[in-house]
Amino acid sequence: MPTSKKAIYKQIEDIFVERYRNAQTELRYKNLYEILICVILSAQCTDKRVNMITPALFEKYPDINSLANASLDDVKSLISSCSFFNNKAKNIINMAKQVMNDFNGNIPLNSKDLKSLSGVGQKTANVVLLEYCGENLMAVDTHVFRVSHRLNLSKAKSAEETEKDLNKIFKKNRNILHQGFVLFGRYICKSINPQCYTCFVYDFCKYENKLQK
Ligand code: SF4
Repeated sequence: MPTSKKAIYKQIEDIFVERYRNAQTELRYKNLYEILICVILSAQCTDKRVNMITPALFEKYPDINSLANASLDDVKSLISSCSFFNNKAKNIINMAKQVMNDFNGNIPLNSKDLKSLSGVGQKTANVVLLEYCGENLMAVDTHVFRVSHRLNLSKAKSAEETEKDLNKIFKKNRNILHQGFVLFGRYICKSINPQCYTCFVYDFCKYENKLQK
């Protein structure tokens, strides 16, 4: 077990990269348009739920242009089982209109322009860029936040500050680490009842309520 912080961080990075190098998002998408919609819908909603909703949505509105001209009520009804569906329906239609008007119908692939779109904040932009383009970025969702804190990689109170801490620690492989932290948090280091008995980073964990092996 390494003792210096730097050595600990390196070992955590190596373990996650080895394990999750080929991991992929569980959101189902075929192109940039679909992943952008999936990520917007996934805020405070499960990937499983989003994957149930999107096939009908994408069948009826297969691209930015069709979504820009969609009826709000229709989109609301197609995504009604998603959390915050009223706001999300407005956001995705407005986003599509902005892409048509401001970007000639092409979804921009840089952080600044993505974040100018309705419903797209820092986390959503980062997830799209790291998933779709493999960019060296972290995005801090509820799983990444929890795992980062339990592994003592950050003590920050907000997602934004946690992202800064992670970026200081990890200079490369951020997209793989993001994916790894999400899946590790979803299936092993769960919010309630973490599976500490199978945990492969048990010795690094500083969580006060971690279970004995
Ligand atoms: S020991 Fe338990 S709480 Fe700690 S990181 Fe592993 S699963 Fe999470």
